[in-house]
Amino acid sequence: MKIHEYQGKEILRKFGVTVPRGIACLSLDEVAAAAQQLGGPVWVVKAQIHAGGRGKGGGVKVAKSLEQVQEYAQQIMGMQLITHQTGAQGQKVRRLLIEEGADIKKELYVSMVTDRVSQRVVLMASSEGGMDIEEVAEKHPELIHKLAIDPGQGLQDADAADIARKIGVPDASVADAVQQFKGLYQAFMETDASLAEINPMILTGAGQVIALDAKFNFDSNALFRHPEIVAYRDLDEEDPAEIEASRFDLAYISLDGNIGCLVNGAGLAMATMDTIKLFGGEPANFLDVGGGATTEKVTEAFKIMLKNPGLKAILVNIFGGIMRCDVIAEGVIAASRAVSLNVPLVVRMKGTNEDLGKKMLADSGLPIIAADTMEEAAQKVVAAANGQA
Ligand code: ADP
Ligand code: MG
Repeated sequence: MKIHEYQGKEILRKFGVTVPRGIACLSLDEVAAAAQQLGGPVWVVKAQIHAGGRGKGGGVKVAKSLEQVQEYAQQIMGMQLITHQTGAQGQKVRRLLIEEGADIKKELYVSMVTDRVSQRVVLMASSEGGMDIEEVAEKHPELIHKLAIDPGQGLQDADAADIARKIGVPDASVADAVQQFKGLYQAFMETDASLAEINPMILTGAGQVIALDAKFNFDSNALFRHPEIVAYRDLDEEDPAEIEASRFDLAYISLDGNIGCLVNGAGLAMATMDTIKLFGGEPANFLDVGGGATTEKVTEAFKIMLKNPGLKAILVNIFGGIMRCDVIAEGVIAASRAVSLNVPLVVRMKGTNEDLGKKMLADSGLPIIAADTMEEAAQKVVAAANGQA
């Protein structure tokens, strides 16, 4: 789960990380009072969307007067902000953060991420923070320093200081940097974050270390113990298909292709997408209907897939283990009727009561394309998506 920058800064502040004073505004009416309360003389008007690269896209502007704050707020609020993370259609700005302007001497990069290779939380840091970090990572990976943190010991002062020096923090500011890194580590651990990225973390003219941006991702499997994080959820920023799917307890991820996939089991769902791609197709989604797929769940899954205007065909790939194939067949038939299916449907099922399930599909009178192997199913659905069914 993702949150907005201003929410991330609330969390950071709670864990002792220094952030600029700022006030979030959900409408333009709130901007004047916010700017007045902050007092200036420099303000920054920041678009709040769940995507980075806002500065380059025109979503972060420095204002030098109250009038300018208003002017920029009016420009940014409601705009369709396009960044390298939003896709071409951009994301509509519905919230602003009005923040005090910081005296930036140097922009650093600091992040924490769960690293699957070392199986540890890794602190990553670079002297080359700011809006071009992706380029630094690509062209100068040696400028990114990493520290795998021992979970039993936590982030040690000496290690934090070592990283601070490596990224060019001057001696007088190292102790401050260590406090910021430790606060960030604590915030990361105690919120069950999977990513916490501060880009930039800055050195001010006075030698202070401040988190100027904040990006958090949280492990959704741990949200049950963080109602305070769940409260930060902003449904406007999420994919409507994924929200709908989560209401029915379906594991669904929207993708760019045109072949809908309905599968039971995450591993089989991944293998199904791979096989589709192997035969030149592109999946429109990942979807695991789970072990206990009821007719209702299968129907909802069909409805969600069919809302995608680019959908050209659907592949149902089911392994009947505990779940019986005849139950799935019943669900597929009921769902196809309920949603008046208008794209070709390829079904492959294997396992318990396979013959009965296949017979039910064949007898249903629905134009279902049957397939026996994964290979055959993928080839048939790719052909169907290309209008060759
Ligand atoms: P994004 O990463 O989405 O582009 P940031 O919050 O990192 O957004 O802002 C982009 C740039 O704007 C920063 O690298 C920094 O140079 C500048 N900036 C952001 N906030 C402030 C602030 N409070 N004071 C001064 N400059 C800022
Ligand atoms: Mg940033």
